[in-house]
Amino acid sequence: MSYIQEVIEQTELKNPGQPQFMQTVKEVLTSLAPAVEQNEAKLRKNVILERMVEPDRQIIFRVPWVDDKGVYHVNRGYRIQFNNAIGPYKGGLRFQKDVNLDTMKFLAFEQTFKNSLTSLPMGGGKGGSDFDPTGKSDDEIMRFCQSFMSELYRHIGPNMDVPAGDMGVGGREIGYLFGWYKKIVGDYENGVLTGKGLSYGGSLIRPEATGFGATYFLEEVLKHQGEHLAGKTFALSGFGNVAWGASKKISELGGKVVTLSGPDGYIYDPDGVSGEKVDFLLEMRASNRNKVKDYADKYGVKFVEGKKPWGNVKADIYMPCARQNEILLEDAEAMVKLGVPILNEVSNMPTTNEAIAYLQSHGVLVAPSKAVNAGGVATSGLEMSQNSGRISWSAVEVDAKLKTIMAGIHHQICDALDAYGMDYNLVAGANLAGFKKVADAMLAQGLY
Ligand code: GLU
Repeated sequence: MSYIQEVIEQTELKNPGQPQFMQTVKEVLTSLAPAVEQNEAKLRKNVILERMVEPDRQIIFRVPWVDDKGVYHVNRGYRIQFNNAIGPYKGGLRFQKDVNLDTMKFLAFEQTFKNSLTSLPMGGGKGGSDFDPTGKSDDEIMRFCQSFMSELYRHIGPNMDVPAGDMGVGGREIGYLFGWYKKIVGDYENGVLTGKGLSYGGSLIRPEATGFGATYFLEEVLKHQGEHLAGKTFALSGFGNVAWGASKKISELGGKVVTLSGPDGYIYDPDGVSGEKVDFLLEMRASNRNKVKDYADKYGVKFVEGKKPWGNVKADIYMPCARQNEILLEDAEAMVKLGVPILNEVSNMPTTNEAIAYLQSHGVLVAPSKAVNAGGVATSGLEMSQNSGRISWSAVEVDAKLKTIMAGIHHQICDALDAYGMDYNLVAGANLAGFKKVADAMLAQGLY
């Protein structure tokens, strides 16, 4: 049995009931075959793959809080510190009702490779809670964040582990989390969290960064194909921070975003989401209603209940910005039938492995999320640099650095593919490029 297959089987045995984590492990490890073949004896002796699939530690804790009516609740909190070979653990916190250990582990594993691709010194981590922010008041969110931080603070620090936002955690939540961290620790260590407000150490462009970065990466892909973004139509899912940034940048560059989605369905706006309509997405998120229909009601466009745009709307580019496992095999088949040529994955692992395989074998170009959405965490890395250097860069400076980083990621992927004599397979290339740096660092640091 091959080394990769052995590790996949062992990992499966050790992690029963974790399908999402196993899906990511399989996706990543199988892509690494050319790198493993070249260096198998050394990787095996140093148990590199075995150590890469085993988190450094997995922290699970109780989060008790009181709602506005005085009723007590208990949620579960998580922080997975997966790999710190190249820098302190870094990755977001997700507050969403279906968060569990499996979700946290797949995201933290993925984060290790993503952060490596940014070329900044950040390891991989992820955390969050099964707390559902939908319909919660501001005070409830604050009390929850304070209780969550009452445990998390002992596991994090500017050189140890630096959380940020993810789904359900934006600037407001980071503010409450930071306020409570400072209260407990007593030191003004604002490098402990990223995604902060501008008045206390946040970086310009951080809110936009994931969506902007995803668009810059796509521009590199299009350039490679001899094409341009202007004039293209985009089907997006989600309407949160990521879809907001992407709609803003795409409309600025002359593309047209025709769909958005929420848990309630999708909207179709043939004129494109641009201008004040983009700003309205922020109001929708702040309302905590979690309904995309609000957009259709406000602008009088079509709302399709209970469906996603995939396979229902034709566009030049599909850009899932909502969540994991949105594009299943049947969606991939419908996408091929409609003749959609490019899938630019923005949310983490939006496509199942079998759907990716189907798309690739039918000539659809798939740009993987660990490269496409890396602009968010990369800008968090820039926020860390500004905090530790006590400097602040202008929006133009941060945006230029972000653009350079995204082009650099595309470049690294192409180099990795060239090194192994492979075609333009961005999924394999991103895994190979992300792996190399982490593996080299682990090999240099001995058995730990
Ligand atoms: N949650 C984002 C991600 O998945 C951002 C993480 C960060 O900024 O640390 O990469």
